[in-house]
Amino acid sequence: MTKTSDILPEDISRMIGRDAQRNNILAAKLVSDVVKTTLGPRGMDKMLVSPNNDIIVTNDGVTILSEMQIEHPAAKMMVEIAKTQESEVGDGTTSSVMLAGKLLENAEKLLDSKIHPTTITKGYRLAEEKAQKILNEISLEISPENEEVLKQVAMTAMTGKGAEDSKEKFSEIVVRAVKSIYDKGRIDLKDIKIEKVKGDGIQNSELVSGIVLDKEKISQEMPKKIDEAKIALIDFPLELKNPEIDTKVSINSPDQLQRFIEEEEHAIRGIVEKVLVSGANVIFCQKGIDDFANYLLAKEGVYACRRVSRSDMQKLSKATGGKIVSNLNELSSYDLGDAQIVEEIKASDETFTHIKGCKNPKAVTILIHGGSDHVLDEIERAFMDGLGDVSSVLKTKLVVPGGGAIEMELSKRLKEYAKTLEGREQLAVQEFANSLEFIPSTLAENAGLDPIDVLTELKAKHESGETNAGLNLFTNKVENVLGAKIIEPYKIKSQALSSATEVATMILRIDDVIASKPDKRGNMNKMDFGKGFDIGGLS
Ligand code: ADP
Ligand code: MG
Repeated sequence: MTKTSDILPEDISRMIGRDAQRNNILAAKLVSDVVKTTLGPRGMDKMLVSPNNDIIVTNDGVTILSEMQIEHPAAKMMVEIAKTQESEVGDGTTSSVMLAGKLLENAEKLLDSKIHPTTITKGYRLAEEKAQKILNEISLEISPENEEVLKQVAMTAMTGKGAEDSKEKFSEIVVRAVKSIYDKGRIDLKDIKIEKVKGDGIQNSELVSGIVLDKEKISQEMPKKIDEAKIALIDFPLELKNPEIDTKVSINSPDQLQRFIEEEEHAIRGIVEKVLVSGANVIFCQKGIDDFANYLLAKEGVYACRRVSRSDMQKLSKATGGKIVSNLNELSSYDLGDAQIVEEIKASDETFTHIKGCKNPKAVTILIHGGSDHVLDEIERAFMDGLGDVSSVLKTKLVVPGGGAIEMELSKRLKEYAKTLEGREQLAVQEFANSLEFIPSTLAENAGLDPIDVLTELKAKHESGETNAGLNLFTNKVENVLGAKIIEPYKIKSQALSSATEVATMILRIDDVIASKPDKRGNMNKMDFGKGFDIGGLS
């Protein structure tokens, strides 16, 4: 009889049936366990050390998982959920990975009692569909004008992220930033620039209604500060030679040299004058500005920066209302942007140009201060969570109670739904409902509370109709969390439900893992999967 090993190359490893399932589920559970301890405002941080000793201290699910260089294929699928959650909502990464892990862990129980994987995946899909319906029904609609709720959403996102003492101020910054770039229902978070400055405490972080560039003015002779700035945004060079092309000019006499220099200067003077005729007193140039142009601009009291990146030019344009001009002859006063102040500011050992006091800016900057790179990075991640959540609420206008309240309510209603089903899918729907309780129980556990007590109390309250009962970790009590202003975007939860279910069912359907290993020279062998993975890579 022919065995599979006879038809596959030697160095292909294969795992079939329950072994494959068990191994994949274990891997997924391990991933979920890694991030579990960081969940919630009392979650702990992790220190990640890279091979070249770079250190990241973080509480952020997706950052931890992306930095861990996970090898196992099923575990990698789990990491993908965190990434999807991050790109779709910008927050809720830990919860979504934990939910997927728990769905798989509970599926294992069903597999052990001989329930077929397709029955489980069917039940999970039914449960997810129902959960989405319920979620939609019970989420609360808010008006985009309600800044108080938006601030509460930002604060819930940033609680426990190293921003504790300043979270009032930070949530105010987040809401003002998102609101200023909010444009007829459209929000592009790229229009919010985050610039980090070492030195000063984090409480000095601020919102600049304009742009902060990490650039200095090109000449010491230029003014340090311009009031009532008229800003030209140009993407042509203020120089003659194209530095990429070597030109050769033969000059045979001092006279000729003199004439050559004069002609060059004349040409540059012409360009600079044309720019100045527009009325600009500040120039941001995407290309180079040569020494002579620099000298002329300084003499006229103009503030100029060169080699500004394309993305910064676009932000400057949105913030100041100026137009990026590519053709010298097209530049006119109509193209100029406005800002109350353009100023060079030194902060510790770096120099920045602040363009601030823009009227109605469609791009703004959050300037984060902090004592070290680690602090700055973690505060930036906290801001990103807040920004993601507030913009998501502005888009959907729907919020849900946090602190595990929504998960408990969904769980309760799914259990009722399960009873209406016939057949074994019912058991899977029940396990789905049980999995949701993992969020409140972990919030309790991470805060040093007894998860069983907390779950019991939560269940009792939800049974008696208290839809918004959750664990308030400001008071460590089970109570109406809306009253405690613990509010989250609807989208975090709906995205987590769908991506966790998707990956859990995908992993459950796998009962055969065929993996190719790199050969001794590091090349892939014949069964090249694009990347060599190893089912033993879980060690
Ligand atoms: P994620 O990566 O999933 O966003 P977080 O560490 O940000 O993980 O934790 C989010 C969880 O913390 C949510 O379930 C949220 O409701 C909960 N949470 C936030 N603030 C509080 C609070 N003050 N009390 C109780 N739970 C809170
Ligand atoms: Mg979060």
